[in-house]
Amino acid sequence: MTAAKAKAEAAEPTAAEEPKAVPECGAPHYLPALAHIRCQRDEQDPDRAPGTPDHQHRHQIGDTLYQW
Ligand SMILES: [Zn+2]
Repeated sequence: MTAAKAKAEAAEPTAAEEPKAVPECGAPHYLPALAHIRCQRDEQDPDRAPGTPDHQHRHQIGDTLYQW
C-alpha cells in the first residue's frame, strides 16, 4: 500500500487557497429556511467565560443584513 500512500500525499493541495487568517464563526441561521446563511463574524472566543452568551451572529449580502 506504499504506492497508494504516496499518491494520497501527492494529492495534497499546494497552497492554491490560503486559509483565512481569521476563522469565521460560521454558525447557521436559526431559521431552517435561512440555514444556508452563516455567520460572517469572527469565531467566538474559545476562552470566553462559561455562560457567556454567543455574539450576535450576522451575515450581509449586499444591502441585506441578517442578524440572529
Ligand atoms: Zn457568529
